[in-house]
Amino acid sequence: MHSIAIIGTGYVGLVTGACLSDFGLKVTCVDRSEDKIEKLNQGVIPIYEPGLEYIVERNFYYKRLDFTLDIEKTVKDNDVIFIAVGTPPQGDGNADLQHVKYVAQQIGQSMNRYKVIVNKSTVPVGTGKLVEQIIKDELKKRKVDYGFDVVSNPEFLREGSAVHDFTHPDRVVIGTESNKARKIMREVYRVLNINEVPFVETNLETAELIKYASNAFLAMKITFINEMANLCENVGAKVQEVARAMGRDGRISSKFLHPGPGYGGSCFPKDTRALVEIGKKYNSPITLIETTIAANERQKNKMVEKIQNELNDLKGKTIGILGVAFKANTDDTRESSALTIMEQLANKGAKIKVYDPCAMEEAKWRLKEIEDKVEYCEDEYEAVNDCNALVIITEWNQFRNLDLSRIKESLKEPYFFDFRNIYSRDNIEKNGFIYIGVGQ
Ligand code: NAD
Repeated sequence: MHSIAIIGTGYVGLVTGACLSDFGLKVTCVDRSEDKIEKLNQGVIPIYEPGLEYIVERNFYYKRLDFTLDIEKTVKDNDVIFIAVGTPPQGDGNADLQHVKYVAQQIGQSMNRYKVIVNKSTVPVGTGKLVEQIIKDELKKRKVDYGFDVVSNPEFLREGSAVHDFTHPDRVVIGTESNKARKIMREVYRVLNINEVPFVETNLETAELIKYASNAFLAMKITFINEMANLCENVGAKVQEVARAMGRDGRISSKFLHPGPGYGGSCFPKDTRALVEIGKKYNSPITLIETTIAANERQKNKMVEKIQNELNDLKGKTIGILGVAFKANTDDTRESSALTIMEQLANKGAKIKVYDPCAMEEAKWRLKEIEDKVEYCEDEYEAVNDCNALVIITEWNQFRNLDLSRIKESLKEPYFFDFRNIYSRDNIEKNGFIYIGVGQ
């Protein structure tokens, strides 16, 4: 049985570590954040991810899963080392590889026998080879010559359903030229292999590109339906019916055809920008994705315009915002459209009242620049009380069944902006509101 180290215990690393330990493997998760490791050792999960707590607790109890700050010992003690550190965007759109490079150095400095180094972070084509070179250089400095292989194993989990996605993936991608490493990876993922999950076994570069291609395609699909929604509004068509009919076509599929306030999150924005930069570097412009990025920015602005078109001057108006997380079932607010929308509203003179079931702490530090204009509320009803409009930005289930008469009484004006189309216009209008959705 292989023993596993996961370096980087964030959304991806923690889920990967917890789920692999649940497959019966011995896993050690490392992070450089003392706070995170201390919390995890006390049984506190530092992120909101449904179903994760129970898996962590159980496997920690049975000593299949542990948490440490000691990367050197962890690298020495384990055979398969996953890299799951962040690869945030740099100012120019390229992925920032400083954490990946640093970890590769640390691995080279600590290695004591053959290891498989598995890159799970989303990284530009060529990073696997770069990691290999960094490790080789470190081994050379130490005048030792241990064998190792680098594998690209991109992750496709979605925050909010990460445990299910990890344990029931549509495919597992394994990129390596080494037969030995490929065999070890099949053994690591044996539970998925025997459950007949398709395995895509390919070379490093292909695996690295698969991740960017997949995310960019999904971002483009969302953007396509957002632009259709805008067109629908201008021609009197209903985008949800357009989407439903399109989705019945097996070649298109119904997934990711829900119009909204523009995609956000920790992956699509940065991965689309990184893919565009990779395209430029290799003289293969990815113009569809360049356009997608620009259209997504316009979509966020368009949401603010919708509010402004109804309320006219925003000075002195108070807007009740429901949802800050970039989507439901996560506390992640990285590049959430809600942040851009709130900042723009505040800059135009509006006051904001806001509530999110899980992302309030995140929101507080991310909205620092407009903190004097934002009031953080205890629940959805406090957030809309005395407001000129209600704006739903995240599709949390609890926002799908609001007490409409209570909301109506609390609002100063009856504006109901539903940027996730989670209500039917007829029902909202029947309750005396002015309804503004997306593409209806
Ligand atoms: P994250 O920011 O939640 O976690 C990264 C962790 O790495 C942090 O806890 C950080 O402290 C730790 N770290 C950084 N440098 C370290 C070092 N030198 N040693 C030890 N720990 C270190 O990031 P994430 O969302 O888990 O994403 C990780 C990677 O996975 C990214 O490349 C991302 O693009 C990719 N990815 C993310 C998702 C997602 O939904 N979040 C999905 C698929 C792929």
